[in-house]
Amino acid sequence: MTKEITQKNLITDKNILDKYELVVGLEVHAQLLTNSKVFSSDATTFGQNPNTNISVITLAHPGTLPKLNGKVAELAIRMGLACGCHISRYNIFDRKNYFYPDLPKGYQITQDRTPICKGGFLDIKTKDGKISHIRLNRIHIEEDAGKSIHLEGGDETLIDLNRAGTALIEIVTEPDIRASEEAYVYMTEVRRLVRYLEICDGNMEEGSMRCDANVSVRLKGEPNLGKKVEVKNMNSIRNVQRAIDHEFVRQITLIENGKSITSETRTFDADLGQTFSMREKEEMNDYRYFPEPDLAPFIVSEEYLAGIKAKMPPLPAELFEKFTTQYGLSEYDAGVLTDEKNIALYFEAICTKTSNYKAASNWLMGAVKYHLNKLSIDISDFPLRPESIVELIELVDSNKISFSTASSKLFSAMVENPALTANHLAEKLNLLQESDDEAILPIIEEVLAKNPEKVLAYQKGNKNLLGMFMGEVMQASKGKLDPKKANELIRKALEKK
Ligand code: ADP
Ligand code: MG
Repeated sequence: MTKEITQKNLITDKNILDKYELVVGLEVHAQLLTNSKVFSSDATTFGQNPNTNISVITLAHPGTLPKLNGKVAELAIRMGLACGCHISRYNIFDRKNYFYPDLPKGYQITQDRTPICKGGFLDIKTKDGKISHIRLNRIHIEEDAGKSIHLEGGDETLIDLNRAGTALIEIVTEPDIRASEEAYVYMTEVRRLVRYLEICDGNMEEGSMRCDANVSVRLKGEPNLGKKVEVKNMNSIRNVQRAIDHEFVRQITLIENGKSITSETRTFDADLGQTFSMREKEEMNDYRYFPEPDLAPFIVSEEYLAGIKAKMPPLPAELFEKFTTQYGLSEYDAGVLTDEKNIALYFEAICTKTSNYKAASNWLMGAVKYHLNKLSIDISDFPLRPESIVELIELVDSNKISFSTASSKLFSAMVENPALTANHLAEKLNLLQESDDEAILPIIEEVLAKNPEKVLAYQKGNKNLLGMFMGEVMQASKGKLDPKKANELIRKALEKK
């Protein structure tokens, strides 16, 4: 009898794993940042007491009618435009029927046949520099359900309907993802985009962005897709990647042992790093979709679309391109600076007033980010305006202050006294350095006069003494000379003697 292959053995057996290809399609739900719900005026404020953000519409009392919140369509279209989707002009909503205690209507209003955005794509870059083109199938609008709360120790289920009816978009990819790292980068990119577009806070830990991963495997070269498993309940991007890694090995183990994959929904346990079966596809609901009769079709006119296009913020990919080409930054710097929209915009503001882009990037990625991280604050709470960083750059560029003094002393003084200019502060703290010949030369003369033998030794060929003279001169000036300039003048003075 052949021995059964275990998942543990398989993880170390590259020959077997290498025979297979991973196939993943992701479904991402993003909670839209609207003040009111998608089909009612109920508030969406997070963290309220249970069942306070509810009205007869959320509770689905008979005779109540939903009405589309226009802001929802606008935010969904923004995402579609950012991903190059086709925007549907004629939109209807559909009912997806199922019973669950947190769904008071007994159906969810969603878009089945006419998603507001069709097609589109995201290009993502993995660590090895490879770009993968991930096609989107669709982005559609739907409403969220409430929450069931199971109290520990009790056998009751409590229902909080505050979240019921909150606006979501669901972003669905084609099965184009071929590595768990690609899923990680894709999710990071989606999160960055929704934050740039200000349509969702992108917070997976709090559930305002959620991901279902559809995972299958197939032998390399096999044209048909394998049977997929849907994994839910990953509360971080890293866990999406871990869940996919686990599924890849689990599914190959089954196949290598002659078993077949069951179409099912599985849940990810982050502590164990494993997925567990929740329900099999056969037991899943037949949703009996049909057009929602209580909502009129929603038409996207040319003018409406043009208005949304005109208000689109700059996108990370555009800024990345600009930073690397126009500003000549490295891809690494541009990547870090475009990671967060507010940092990118702050950088842009500096660059409108200086052409030393590299220095601007260094200040932001160095001292500024260090300060923000230390205090755990956002750049919007950073006390210095971009103009102040420009002043710093100019002081260093004109040799009035050394970079090391600027970063070790002046920067923190500026942060403490944001109302004072960099110049004023540097003067007040006596940090300005001398780079005029007239100020430096007498000090050099004095030092050379004190060390006649050493001057002689230097002239006889002991060039190493330059460092000693430099040290003496800097000390005599209390470190306030421009070192580059001082070095040059000392050398000249020694050669002249
Ligand atoms: P379902 O009807 O089960 O929801 P869909 O065809 O609507 O399936 O696809 C849902 C998601 O699953 C999409 O993101 C799609 O790309 C992905 N998907 C479909 N088939 C596979 C497969 N064989 N392997 C991995 N992902 C898949
Ligand atoms: Mg699905």
